[in-house]
Amino acid sequence: MKNYSNIFSPTDKNLKKCSKILKNHGIAALPTETVYGLAGNAYSNRAVTKIYSLKKRPKKNPLIVHFDSLQSILKDTEQNPYLQKLYRKFSPGPITYVLKLKKKSKISKKLMNKNGTIACRVPANTYFRKIIRLTHAPLAAPSANISNHVSPTSSKDVFDEFGKKIKFILDGKQSKVGIESTVVNLVGRPKVLRPGKITKHEIQKVIKHVTKNISKEILSPGQLKKHYSPGIPVFLNQQKPKPGGALLVFGKTKLKGKNIFYLSKSKSLDECAKKLYLKLRQIKKLKYKTISVTKIPNQGIGIAINDRLKRASS
Ligand code: AMP
Ligand code: MG
Repeated sequence: MKNYSNIFSPTDKNLKKCSKILKNHGIAALPTETVYGLAGNAYSNRAVTKIYSLKKRPKKNPLIVHFDSLQSILKDTEQNPYLQKLYRKFSPGPITYVLKLKKKSKISKKLMNKNGTIACRVPANTYFRKIIRLTHAPLAAPSANISNHVSPTSSKDVFDEFGKKIKFILDGKQSKVGIESTVVNLVGRPKVLRPGKITKHEIQKVIKHVTKNISKEILSPGQLKKHYSPGIPVFLNQQKPKPGGALLVFGKTKLKGKNIFYLSKSKSLDECAKKLYLKLRQIKKLKYKTISVTKIPNQGIGIAINDRLKRASS
């Protein structure tokens, strides 16, 4: 039996304990509606350095900073013509805005993109926002996994990644969305850098001129091709498992066996996103050698699901 003594329930006392750790440049894993985040005080170089080293994350891959409100984003970033409109429609929620940092901002330069931009999100999770307020600082929080692993969607997944290397993991429910936030660059002509639950189409409806990132340049370093890997080979658009492997099914199949796993029998793409990382982790833990995945419709959040699966399979 694992000893989960560093997983805490979200009582007032524990939220205060968490903010104390964060004020002292420590690290805590927190639930969000997308995936669990590895949080540290965004003003603290020490905290940011710890996040990079715990995650073994390449220094050139900047972090997302989490704020508790639009007002607090505006304190650290320059005026932007799109932000308020998008914020009103989608935030707090699974969307991250890339903005220009103010020169006088105290946010650690270590977490920024070299071009002076910063990725900002206000998460929907109310405990997360409460901790931001208690800490009196925005929190840098990339996904709480070792770089290139599958992101965690439960407190136990975080424990599987880091064990006791982090003092404090806040327990929340299974993350509702289940995949990482949509990242939209609002500096210059808006561009979706990473697809997510909120689609390019929905963003386009709110502001015109949004285009898919067609530039060859890696604007979001997290778009590196190999990413989100469950640690065993993944094959896309399959109808049956490989020998010794598992099959992950969207919809139903006539195949039977312990190695058949379901993403959504009712073909709900939201359910599929919510279960994707959970199932990838589960199959790996059960020691199957490969994961074959059936075809998933490339629409709505399906675009983001296929994006992650493509990277998992490369
Ligand atoms: P994660 O924190 O693991 O969810 O990943 C954050 C994603 O946002 C990665 O793909 C980063 O490369 C991307 N990102 C963070 N900051 C910026 C920025 N300033 N400009 C462009 N992409 C960014
Ligand atoms: Mg990540």
